[in-house]
Amino acid sequence: MEVTTLGTGSPLPDPNRAGAATLVRAGGATLLFDCGRGVLMRAAAVGVVPPLLTQVFLTHLHSDHVNDFNDVLTTRWVMSPVDSPLPVIGPVGTARFVERTIATLEDDIGWRIEHHDDLTWQPSCDLREVTDGVVWESADGVRVLAAPTVHKPVHPTVGYRVEHDGAAVAVAGDTVPCDGLTGLCAGADVYVQTVIRPDLVAQIPAPRLQDILDYHSSCEDAGRTAAAGGVGTLVLTHPVPPPAPGTEDEWVAQAAAHFDGEIILAADLTTISV
Ligand SMILES: [Zn+2]
Ligand SMILES: [Zn+2]
Repeated sequence: MEVTTLGTGSPLPDPNRAGAATLVRAGGATLLFDCGRGVLMRAAAVGVVPPLLTQVFLTHLHSDHVNDFNDVLTTRWVMSPVDSPLPVIGPVGTARFVERTIATLEDDIGWRIEHHDDLTWQPSCDLREVTDGVVWESADGVRVLAAPTVHKPVHPTVGYRVEHDGAAVAVAGDTVPCDGLTGLCAGADVYVQTVIRPDLVAQIPAPRLQDILDYHSSCEDAGRTAAAGGVGTLVLTHPVPPPAPGTEDEWVAQAAAHFDGEIILAADLTTISV
């Protein structure tokens, strides 16, 4: 398997970090987890265009994890020579989100169908809402499990675990440590976790930013979860606030206080082979 952090940013715009999105290539499958800002630009950098996506998974419907979902959906539609619904798996609420997204694209859809004689179908999704258990399997032995995570008041939210050939990769969205997350991480070779630095956030005099402290994993939380699960490599992504250049080691050190394995503060397009 190969894990690529396509986008490692957060809601705060960053010239070097696209929005939350992680690509896992396993067997013959190309699996995309979340669709944050700029996802298709980063996917193009590793040779992936929307028609090549085998399955899209959403962890939750916060804007920074889905704000380029419409780009994935419409670009797959206009690039596909035949009708090819976008396969999407997400938490309960995803169907309503997709319906509303398509509604905002109504004018565009009408113009393109009117203009292109060979484009006779609407964009659509092959969609499933999931909570836990095995949620996706391929003929060549790749399987994906989901489990509920905790990011209240955003609810429900899920994390995922990809398994193939005896290897496992856990991809968590925004969550505090919880039982579902612990299960996804158990024995995983790679664990990707969105993180914040409470020590830095606390110094920023903005009440709205203080609110994020109670529903994210800190670097230390991620380290503790990684240690409890006995994972191989911990990948920190979606760092808030955006790390100042030269401070990357501090993020790793905070997680390392609780976890002995390899720790990577991901940049966009960081790739880990399993
Ligand atoms: Zn987020
Ligand atoms: Zn979130």
